[in-house]
Amino acid sequence: MLGAMQDWELRVTHLIDHAATEHGTREIVTRWADGSESRTNWAGVRRDAMKMANALRRYGIAPHDRIATLALNHHRHLVSWYGVVGAGGVLHTINPRLFDDQLEYMINHAEDRVLLYDAMFQPIVDRLRDKCPRIERFICFDSGDHAPAFEDWIAGESAEGNWASGGEREPCMLCYTSGTTGHPKGVLYEHRSTMLHAITALQPAVFNLDARSVVLPVVPMFHAASWGLPWMGAAAGAKFVYVQGNDPAALCEMMRQEKVNVSAGVPTVWLALLQHMDSTGIDLPELRQVVVGGSAMPRPIVERLMAQGLRIAHAWGMTETSPIGTTGAEPWDWDARDFQSQVSYKAMQGRVPFGVEIRCVSLGDPAVVLPRDGKASGALQVRGPWVVKRYFKALDDATAADQWFDTGDVAVIHPDGTLQLTDRTKDVIKSGGEWISSVDLENAAVGHPAVAEAAAIGITHPKWDERPILVVVRKPGADVTGEDLRAFLSDKVAKWWLPDAIEFVDALPHTGTGKISKKDLRDQFREYRLES
Ligand code: ADP
Repeated sequence: MLGAMQDWELRVTHLIDHAATEHGTREIVTRWADGSESRTNWAGVRRDAMKMANALRRYGIAPHDRIATLALNHHRHLVSWYGVVGAGGVLHTINPRLFDDQLEYMINHAEDRVLLYDAMFQPIVDRLRDKCPRIERFICFDSGDHAPAFEDWIAGESAEGNWASGGEREPCMLCYTSGTTGHPKGVLYEHRSTMLHAITALQPAVFNLDARSVVLPVVPMFHAASWGLPWMGAAAGAKFVYVQGNDPAALCEMMRQEKVNVSAGVPTVWLALLQHMDSTGIDLPELRQVVVGGSAMPRPIVERLMAQGLRIAHAWGMTETSPIGTTGAEPWDWDARDFQSQVSYKAMQGRVPFGVEIRCVSLGDPAVVLPRDGKASGALQVRGPWVVKRYFKALDDATAADQWFDTGDVAVIHPDGTLQLTDRTKDVIKSGGEWISSVDLENAAVGHPAVAEAAAIGITHPKWDERPILVVVRKPGADVTGEDLRAFLSDKVAKWWLPDAIEFVDALPHTGTGKISKKDLRDQFREYRLES
């Protein structure tokens, strides 16, 4: 027997219909890279998305065809998200900071038919055009110099019509992981997974959005679906403030001008914002909540933001998890905790919302499920309705038969369910049969006032198998020696974790998503030898 409720497939087009009908006048503001501003609202976004969907259909886009975007954050990019899915297509957001060979691989692997891009990425488009012959059509979001301009392209289209219909398990979006090893891998989100993720992620335990929210997503629309904000924001009827680029002065100015109360971005963004605020004396009185994720948020920054009265949600996730996995939702006894223990909690990766399951298994063979005791560290696995089952075009499932997906992260889970990431499986340092967390070493090192950035990697050692070395970038004008830093670390990590050597460099290698590339760093230090 089946239940007897209405048919209402969980399709993401319901989101934009809801936003336009119930929150139609709520504004969507764009500050372009040249300093000019545009204003529309949810009703305007829906109108233009329908025009775009009609333009795509007229062009002959078939259901599930991939349409790519190579663009920063702005309202036209938002329109294109709903326009593509509204036409039944699959939105493929591309990170312009990746290397050309990665971009070429992704575009060809995705078989993108149309590419929409920002004029500032014209040089990338020119370099890729011949290497990606499947792209039939180029549309420029903000200029008509080299390709039809977006507004001209949709201008003559009708704002009437229906969204493409279909089932909720059909695909709507494709995001590739940056692939620090091997080729990038595509994660094909479904309408259903995206909707369940959106409904969960706007809850108090995650982004805490409602119609009063004014959101400035610093997280780019090309990174892990902008953490789902364009979808959940429509459900909540939030106002959006988009800044094309992440210049701290422009971000601060727009946060003040538009009374932004929620923002989201990677830790380096908050570092840059805080530096700008310190040097200019600007404050952000309306900002109430920041969601930080993508890499670990150093404790001193968490403390600094919390001391200003901000609610921090330190989120862990990955492209493969849509991306919300855990957030820093406050536990029941939050108000009874003192400030320092609140900071300690927020410096960890938090707990899962309903819909995500996590567990850690031992790193050895055979893998056993580890207790949630805050001590046993192992490979983090995850499952749930918005976790990848199989990569795009892969023949095999990425998850095991019991659905657990291996995240490649190493973590401990505390008795109250709090997740604490300690490393990536590929980055842990194995010394004398015991594991050293490179992340813990790095976090301790960046607590030193003269250290801008630090990375720990394992170097082959004749006796211990591997020993850690620490590669450090000093803050401009700061002076610190290896001896100083070792002394500083000595009461922060176990004695046998102390790095065997500390090397100072001008810069560390980074990936296209701004994370330190341990792979490139290990390559740089391949010939490095430690004394026995
Ligand atoms: P990419 O693979 O493209 O770099 P992802 O966003 O998918 O981008 O990266 C996911 C990884 O980022 C996670 O597996 C984890 O290693 C790291 N990460 C994400 N959030 C956090 C966090 N809050 N703390 C520490 N590491 C994090």
